[in-house]
Amino acid sequence: MKKMISIVISCIAIPVITFSQDAEKIAAQTEVWTPVPVVVAPAKEAGQAPSDAIILFNGKNVDAWETENGGPAKCEVKNGMMTVVKNSGSIKTKQQFSNFQLHLEWREPLPVVGKGQGRGNSGVYLQENYEIQVLDSYDNPTYSNGQCGALYKQAIPLVNACRKPGEWQSYDIIWTAPVFNTDKSLKTPAYVTVMQNGILIQNHVEVKGKTLWSGTPYYEAHGPKSILLQDHGDDGNPVSFRNIWIRNL
Ligand code: MG
Repeated sequence: MKKMISIVISCIAIPVITFSQDAEKIAAQTEVWTPVPVVVAPAKEAGQAPSDAIILFNGKNVDAWETENGGPAKCEVKNGMMTVVKNSGSIKTKQQFSNFQLHLEWREPLPVVGKGQGRGNSGVYLQENYEIQVLDSYDNPTYSNGQCGALYKQAIPLVNACRKPGEWQSYDIIWTAPVFNTDKSLKTPAYVTVMQNGILIQNHVEVKGKTLWSGTPYYEAHGPKSILLQDHGDDGNPVSFRNIWIRNL
């Protein structure tokens, strides 16, 4: 009788094992083992630079920056941050970039001075031509496609994620550079994704060209370009920046 039971169990078990082996074989057909992603060590604290980042500002000096014309950057560096010196001109990175992930932190000034576009206006110009607006948009109405987090005059931010002036805020920006044909015509447009304070405000938005104060955006062929921080030259206190790093993609 025992032998009989054993034979019956074997008959049941064998197909199960076969099915299991077949399932594993089929599943293995869709496993991809190469390439193996490069190891990048995350920072110990969120928002700090990972191991493969290029540090653009670490709170100590502005060696990675210069004026638009190539002279020494005239930012004030103090207490781990750099502050635009009013009317000294915008600054840009000495290094140039194409596709990248950019992290930066900024603080709108106190006391609050001015209103609308005149309150804490700066900007992060991606490849020198495409501005993600920096503005004190905390309880400060202005045109929606020019408020903080806008792709200036092209894309309204999905939400207003601004903190109060005097509080540090962050941008995490993913930039896909435009590609141009050999005759300088546009092959593929740029795309941008932006998180402000960890909140998605621009989601893979197609860029129509240079972000202009006036007129219709258009593209002008270019290669790798700098990150530029705008000196808007307003009457209020200028915007401060800290912890700026970038990863080439
Ligand atoms: Mg601006």
